[in-house]
Parts: sequence; structure tokens; C-alpha cells
Amino acid sequence: MIKFLDLEKINNRFRRQIDKKINTILDKGWYLLGEENESFTENFAEFCGTKYCVGVANGLDALNLIIKAYGFGSGDEIIVPANTYIASILAVSQNGCTPVLVEPDIKTYNINPDLIEEKITEKTKAIMVVHLYGQAVQMEKIWRLAEKYNLKIIEDSAQAHGAMYKGRRCGNLGDASGFSFYPGKNLGCLGDGGAVTTNDEVLANKIKALRNYGSNIKYHNIYKGVNSRLDEIQAAVLDIKLKELDKDNEKRREISKYYRENIKNPAIILPEIYDEKAHVWHIFAIRTKERDRLQKYLKDNGIETLIHYPIPPHKQVCYKELNNLSLPITEEIHQTILSLPISPVLEYEEVERVVEVINRYE
Ligand SMILES: *Cc1c(COP(=O)(O)O)cnc(C)c1O
Repeated sequence: MIKFLDLEKINNRFRRQIDKKINTILDKGWYLLGEENESFTENFAEFCGTKYCVGVANGLDALNLIIKAYGFGSGDEIIVPANTYIASILAVSQNGCTPVLVEPDIKTYNINPDLIEEKITEKTKAIMVVHLYGQAVQMEKIWRLAEKYNLKIIEDSAQAHGAMYKGRRCGNLGDASGFSFYPGKNLGCLGDGGAVTTNDEVLANKIKALRNYGSNIKYHNIYKGVNSRLDEIQAAVLDIKLKELDKDNEKRREISKYYRENIKNPAIILPEIYDEKAHVWHIFAIRTKERDRLQKYLKDNGIETLIHYPIPPHKQVCYKELNNLSLPITEEIHQTILSLPISPVLEYEEVERVVEVINRYE
């Protein structure tokens, strides 16, 4: 069986370093907001090219805390892509803000910058961009809109660690960015983890307090905060794995290139890119009319695939108020999309086998 993602194999490459680090942490007896968190967040800020990075408990909290720190709430609107993982939209509605959904570009699956301006009202406070599947959103138009209407740009970079737009990394393309280090992400830890990157010192300090009960000095609470910290073991694991991230992303790019050059089947629509460096291939998503039939065929031939995602956010039971929206491009994507195996530990023979099996599909 060719696994969709072999996490054991991915993390085994770091086993000795991780073992050693965990022992050091056990010896020190300091588990939260210590040296490991300091070291990793400093290194990750440098990696992204931002001045600040704040470790938090997960990607959803990262986005949630950005919106909270800006003080956006009830009556405020935030523009979000309709085609995304539900966490992007949950972060908006958990703060009491209204998510305003915008259709994607069918070629990139990312928010269509041409459809944003018509959705801006006096209530709009921010545009959230999601670099979906690992491909940076084309930001130029969005930067102009944010300036014209005085809006914040919040990035959801949970799938785009290391991706670039015009020489800058995701996480440094807006006012603040949320990252997730969920195990399956391009940079993943051994549980939950997340971070906010920003160049805004005031925002960074506010989020540092908010994630720790609203307190910068122990037992002095200036905000009604939450408990959302990145623990020392996760920070240490991320610091170890960060050193290999660019190499790992390069491996994903090679696999993607092989797929794009060698999958030749008229039933399959391959992903399109506008710049090699823009994409870190968190997910390699193809589209086909009879998606479920292709998925079963691949499974019968020993190839595991997943669907990202089967139900769009506006069709979820929890978003009754969005259920009647008409978003045909989003729906078309959700009905036809299928994710092929891609990871830094996929073997060359496995990639060849995937191509060969798909090319035989009729
Ligand atoms: C994974 C993910 C999140 C949420 O991250 P968690 O760490 O699981 O909370 C948010 N947005 C997108 C696009 C994601 O893929």
C-alpha cells in the first residue's frame, strides 16, 4: 500500500535528535514558555522574514487570537475564501464577526482577487487569505485593496510553511499570519502546535499576553485572555525539523513536477501553478468528474488518497446561515477534487507507480 502520508517515516528521520531533546527537557523540568519556545519562535520569525513570532497551541487559535487582538467582533465583517478548511471561517465566527465568503479561482483554488472589492462594505475590517494546498495567494491586488479601504490582511498559512510570493515568504505577506504545526502539515510537531507571525510589535505583545490568560506579568491580567501556549517539547521538535523544511519542500516540488509532467490521462485535470517558488505542495490536488470512482480504483491498486475537502464550509450543518449561498465554483471543486500521495519520504518507485496506475485509468 502506498500511504497518503507516512508520519512515522517522516519523524523517524529525526528520532535521535528528538530523543535527546526530550531527555534534556525532562532533566530541566521546565515545560511551558521556556528556552525551546524562545529559540523556535525566533528561528521561525527569521525563516519567514518577520520581526516577531508568537507560539500558540494550534492553528485555529493562532487565527482566532489575531482577530481578537485587533479587537474585531460583533458587527464586523471579514472577507474569507469560500474554498478553505473550516478552521479559517471558524476563527472569524468565534470572535462574533461575520464571514463574507468569496469564490476561488478555479485554476489556483485560492481566493479570486477580482471578486473581493464588490464584497467590501463599511463593516469590512479585514481580508483573510488562505494559501491553500501550499500555494501562495497572488497578493498584488489584495495589497492595493487593503490600502484603498484601510483593511487588515490576515494570512492563514497553515498549509504554506516556506511558500513564497515575489521573494517573500507566506507569513510575511500581510499584517499577521496564523500557522498550524498539526502533525500532517509541511512543518508538523508530535501533537498540536501553532504560531502567529507579524511585523507589528504591539500586536505581537498583545497576542503574547492573550495566549497566557491575558497576562504578561504573572497574576496581573490586562486582558480576558485564553490558555493557548506552545509547549516546550513541541517547540523543540519544531526547531529540529525547521532546519530541514526547505529541503523537504524541495522534495515535494520534485514529486509534483514528476506528476505534472508524466500524468497523461484526459480524465484528469492537473493543478496549475504560476511560479515554482510559490508552491510547497502541502497537497497535490487533481480534479476529475467521477472522483469517487477514481478514488476506489486507486485504492484497489494499493494507492491511498484523501479528499480536501468533501463538504465546503457553507454547506456544513453548523453554518445554517450560510447553507443557502450559491457558490458554484467552490462546490464544483469539492465534488471533483482528490489528493494524491506527496511527502518528503515518498520513494521514487512509489511516485512512478502512482503515475503508471493513473495513466491506466479509464
Ligand atoms: C490545519 C489548518 C488550520 C487549523 O490548524 P490546527 O492546528 O488544526 O488548528 C487552519 N487553516 C487551514 C487552512 C488548515 O489547513
